[in-house]
Amino acid sequence: MHAIRAAHAFDGSRFLPGGATVLIEGDRIVSVESGRVALPAGVEVAEHAGTVLPGLIDCHTHVVADCTFGGLERTGGMTDEDIDAVIVESLRAHASAGVTTVRDLGDIRYRTLAFRDVPGLPRVVASGPPITTPDGHCHFLGGAVGGMLDADLRAAVSERAERGVDVVKVMASGGFATPGTDQLGAQFTAAELAVLVDQAHRAGLPLVAHAHSLAAMENASAAGVDGIEHFTGLSTAQGSHIDDDFLQQVARRGLFVDLTMGNDRSLHALMPAPPPPLAELMTRFGVSSFDDFYVSRIGELARLREHGVRLIAGVDSGMGPTKRHGNLWRTVGEMVEGGYLAAEALAAATSVAAQACGLAAEVGRLAPGHAADVLVVDGDLSQDLTTLSAPRAVLVNGVPAQLAPQ
Ligand SMILES: [Zn+2]
Repeated sequence: MHAIRAAHAFDGSRFLPGGATVLIEGDRIVSVESGRVALPAGVEVAEHAGTVLPGLIDCHTHVVADCTFGGLERTGGMTDEDIDAVIVESLRAHASAGVTTVRDLGDIRYRTLAFRDVPGLPRVVASGPPITTPDGHCHFLGGAVGGMLDADLRAAVSERAERGVDVVKVMASGGFATPGTDQLGAQFTAAELAVLVDQAHRAGLPLVAHAHSLAAMENASAAGVDGIEHFTGLSTAQGSHIDDDFLQQVARRGLFVDLTMGNDRSLHALMPAPPPPLAELMTRFGVSSFDDFYVSRIGELARLREHGVRLIAGVDSGMGPTKRHGNLWRTVGEMVEGGYLAAEALAAATSVAAQACGLAAEVGRLAPGHAADVLVVDGDLSQDLTTLSAPRAVLVNGVPAQLAPQ
């Protein structure tokens, strides 16, 4: 047994007064006590002046993608060995930034599934290749359905279930990484999505939908999906706007919503030009740059909070230099910038994220019986979240995380 004692503590939902002592045996947390408590003789204690908390969870990553623009598409021309090397590098980058669980929402050839439980690397909740339409968003990952008949849709889900995925991902709208797809419209009708959801649920799997357009978000919600990724709210009539009724509906249905933010905003100038339909929309609605648009999304966070939408933290990490693996800590700061309390923002990146990943009993909390996924950072996070970017210690399943080479 060994213990971590810190002057400040966040347990996954609240800050514990007087810090905490976390007792660990093997891969499990044995106990979590507020403040300084006596420990059994012979227990080695690591003392920290900062904050101890559960390891962070990035609910939207692509570990096969190397953080260059177009990197995800280029995996099609890579060998399995090369892809596996990128996966290891990505997971080390996550671990180095305090991320101990990732939900991977799109790989190629199911490569991530072999990396779900590598000692010292973040655990992976894996979707395999996203389900998409022929020539649809990210079709180059090999996840296009064979046709749009119910049998085709069910077969797409069954293939993934047989492969042993943890979650099913569907591209409900077009996306920016696939020029020519319809980012403002829908790739599947609500009825088609409902078939996918039904087949996933029969297999005991949650289904989450990628949706930039309002139309796709509405289809996804009507179809009974478990979560919506991006949630950009694009429509030709309203630009990027989600009305109160829809937010209310999403909150009432308990959908997990992930805005996939956490960008390194200092690199926004490197972003490729938006596709023509989006550029036209931005001009029409007076949005002068992507950076402007991004800041406006942070401004919208207060409305999600007001309506009680279940927000979770995810980056879409790997999709470019602005979205590096390990950027998750940035989403926490953005939520606070948008009006969330520090504890709420940290919960979105820990306990609530764990629920979305189907791992509520396993990770996301400092609690007895949970996996010993533990993060220590400097300072008091209840007062200052900036230190979240620089972990002092990271444990995955009770062992020190494999960090990226400095
Ligand atoms: Zn993605």
